[in-house]
Amino acid sequence: MTATIIDGKAVAERLRGDIADAVHKMEAEHGIRPGLATVLVGDDPASQSYVRMKGKACESLGIGSFGYTLPADSSQGEVEQLVKALNANPEVHGILVQLPLPKHLDEEAILSAISLEKDVDGFHPVNIGRLAMKGREPLFIPCTPHGVMILAEEAGVTFEGANAVVLGRSNIVGMPAAMLLLHRNATVTICHSRTKDLPAVCRQADILVAAVGRPHMVKADWVKPGAVVIDVGTNRVDDPSAKRGYRLTGDVDFDEVKEVAGAITPSPGGVGPMTITMLLKNTLRGAELALAAQR
Ligand code: NDP
Repeated sequence: MTATIIDGKAVAERLRGDIADAVHKMEAEHGIRPGLATVLVGDDPASQSYVRMKGKACESLGIGSFGYTLPADSSQGEVEQLVKALNANPEVHGILVQLPLPKHLDEEAILSAISLEKDVDGFHPVNIGRLAMKGREPLFIPCTPHGVMILAEEAGVTFEGANAVVLGRSNIVGMPAAMLLLHRNATVTICHSRTKDLPAVCRQADILVAAVGRPHMVKADWVKPGAVVIDVGTNRVDDPSAKRGYRLTGDVDFDEVKEVAGAITPSPGGVGPMTITMLLKNTLRGAELALAAQR
């Protein structure tokens, strides 16, 4: 059996069309242009590139984009002051503090300073707390795990009662993905570096989400025939034939696993394009919340 390939690029493209329509409608009908502010502290090249990509994506959909860069040695007070100024800025409906922050800064305090109504990354402790509670809903869902859920839906998954295994427990991917699966009434197992006999645990999964950062770790004999496999992994591997000397690949051995799984996302081309799309969607939601608050 060869798996259905879940085309994250195509799904993201479709969603971006819907978001652009809603953005234009909001501006035409209410004079509100959704706006995203990004805060980058320091000059890490990968973070610079992520922030640039986010700004460009906003512009392509008609969303306002406000980029702030602070020096790497900025104090806690300076970063929090900027966040508070953005909380008060009516043109800004979403605030994204690019992680990781320099080590001397208190990440939790900075994320807590973001207004709940502008927390488009969904990492404010209150939003994460709501995600972890039964019967509560966060105002914003973290972008990458949200993308994971939409791609699983795209594959026609029935979450209710399914065995879901999440490989990885990071604050930004594994843990919130597991919480979202639980909200949809899946039976969830979370695996990490101390889990024993990973292949056996993974073989129980009807839905397998891989977010470990280990290229091609998940092999065909880890996967239950017919399972839906969502690969979040985005890993650089050396490739002398590539222009940049490396290429990106997932945590799942795609060529092997696609022969066993029922549906699978490629990486790149799966979850990656969904992450920024969900950020744009959350920014639109931030503007909708601001509009509702005016009424
Ligand atoms: P982290 O490094 O923060 O977390 C990795 C998790 O995997 C940890 O929970 C760790 O366990 C677990 N782990 C590591 N090695 C093993 C192992 N050998 N066996 C079992 N578990 C293991 O990574 P992230 O969650 O930030 O990212 C994961 C992957 O997703 C990366 O490839 C990253 O590039 C990608 N990513 C992609 C995004 C996208 O938009 N497509 C967005 C964000 C990330 P422990 O907790 O015990 O240390």
